[in-house]
Amino acid sequence: MKTLSCLSLSGGQGKTSISLLLGRLLAQQGQRVLMVDADPQANLTFYLGHNVQPDAPTLLEVLKRQVETAAGIYPLAYENLYLLPADEGLHQAQEYLATSGMGALALRYSLEAVGELFDVCLIDSPPQRTQICLSVVGASDWVLIPAEASTKGVNSLLRSLELLEEMRRIRAFTGQVLGVLPFRDKWFGQSQATDSREAIAAMQQVAGEIRVLPSVLESERYKQAIRQGRLLAELGYGELELPLQQVIEILGQV
Ligand code: ATP
Ligand code: MG
Repeated sequence: MKTLSCLSLSGGQGKTSISLLLGRLLAQQGQRVLMVDADPQANLTFYLGHNVQPDAPTLLEVLKRQVETAAGIYPLAYENLYLLPADEGLHQAQEYLATSGMGALALRYSLEAVGELFDVCLIDSPPQRTQICLSVVGASDWVLIPAEASTKGVNSLLRSLELLEEMRRIRAFTGQVLGVLPFRDKWFGQSQATDSREAIAAMQQVAGEIRVLPSVLESERYKQAIRQGRLLAELGYGELELPLQQVIEILGQV
């Protein structure tokens, strides 16, 4: 199982949107995909149409080792796609991870138990640098950093790279950055918005050796696909999926 997380240390950077659509695409292509919702906002769980039942185990119970990992994984309405869900209660994992002494490795251990069952594991992370976030980084073989094509996005990229570097120094992150994915790149016809162009140029500088992928365009179609639980290609906008297809291609080669 290859574990890829979407990490970006600001709100609204596209982490959940990209995780969701990547997971759906990979599953459609026949890969067995485990989605992990590691954000107490639980947006991924919501968009995947999963209702957490009151006593049903979620990522919280899995992290706290109250249940086996497999007991927290649920099949979804989509073929090949499974979810380790979150709800608001995931906040309670913070203290547990902080005091357990192995916070950064807790998720990695939990996922190892199901590593034979899936081809790919995609993790959606929270926007803050919390214990849960550190645990996501610790579990990642690969990290994809979506970043809005704006000054906020450049800052988010900077802070995400800093976190990865810090965690690498203490050997808590042993993976690699798959790429930076500019998000909500604005174009008006043939011309790119100045702020988008400047932000992406700054991202290229900041990224250094790390590849900057083709950007996800600012588009209502994305929101529509997410809201309706459909793929862009199913709505007739397959060309908008190009950046996601590129991520999948790279993931297949590594
Ligand atoms: P958070 O840190 O709060 O979890 P996030 O990084 O997960 O945020 P998303 O929730 O994926 O970010 O996206 C932010 C918003 O952008 C959402 O409202 C989503 O519907 C919208 N969005 C997604 N794709 C596009 C797009 N291509 N163009 C414009 N808006 C988009
Ligand atoms: Mg999100």
